[in-house]
Amino acid sequence: MPNTASFSRRDFLAASAFACTAAAATTRTARADEPSVEEQDGGPQLIDCHLHINHYDRSIDDTIRHMDGTGTTQAFILPLETGEGGVTLKSETVLHSFFQYPDRIIPFCQTDIRRPDALDRVRAYHLLGCRGIGEQKEHLPLGDKRVEAVIALCDELNWPITIHFQDGAGGYNQGIADHLETYLKRYKQVRMIGHAQTWWANISADVPPPEESLYPTGPVKPGGLLDRLMGDYPNLYADLSAGSGFNALSRDEDFTAGFLERHRKQILFGSDCPCRDGKGENFNGVCYSMQLQKFLKRMIPDEAALADVFFKNAQRALNGPLESSL
Ligand SMILES: [Zn+2]
Ligand SMILES: [Zn+2]
Repeated sequence: MPNTASFSRRDFLAASAFACTAAAATTRTARADEPSVEEQDGGPQLIDCHLHINHYDRSIDDTIRHMDGTGTTQAFILPLETGEGGVTLKSETVLHSFFQYPDRIIPFCQTDIRRPDALDRVRAYHLLGCRGIGEQKEHLPLGDKRVEAVIALCDELNWPITIHFQDGAGGYNQGIADHLETYLKRYKQVRMIGHAQTWWANISADVPPPEESLYPTGPVKPGGLLDRLMGDYPNLYADLSAGSGFNALSRDEDFTAGFLERHRKQILFGSDCPCRDGKGENFNGVCYSMQLQKFLKRMIPDEAALADVFFKNAQRALNGPLESSL
């Protein structure tokens, strides 16, 4: 490991200097008034709101191969700088992939929010062309002031933030039931994107303790936290990715049909798939993206509603409420 303090300062200064020259180049891609994906390319559109490079050691090129294999036009590429949770991906690598594939990659940033320079680093990543924070996944409770500080910064920058909610010992952003609404009341501009086990367990009013199950199955009890908060706060979005999203959607299809209908403007297609080819190579023959696309096409017969979930809501989450007519 390099000396952390000097690496951090050098790294930040280099990023800031680079930002001055790169900002002009990236402004074009980062502007909110860009034509929509639909207008750029007449084909079917799909934005994956949750992908990682380095997932199961997947390279940048293999991540693009996954997008090609699954019909994914663009993807939010989410770094995980601290490696908590198993994947380590630096924001610099995401920016590198963005400069390599500017039409395919929507770069997010993430940095260790326990470091004193975290907010300055996020501002540098903003100048470099990043479009949001995520995946926010560090061993800190949701009520921690440092978690609130990055949510507040996203609010200021008019950004989304993708948060991994996992209650219990060794979890991340614990305390969704106690703290999320406080932030939603306090910060109206930031788009909060909910992801992972505890987020999805709250599709039901009946949530088992995390030590009992993080992937509850069986019929959903109506009146869950997600229905209430997504109904009350239009800047709260749901990320359908990973086993947690698919488990929640497939446990009670009758309930799911209504949930997808009620929140059709706030639901984001996402896979979090680690495979390389859209066929589950290196992942036991399963591709989360293909599995979810097939499921959603069956569950959402209305084409306009499917377009919302497949890419229009992702554009709204990126650009904010002013762009809601996209
Ligand atoms: Zn992830
Ligand atoms: Zn896949």
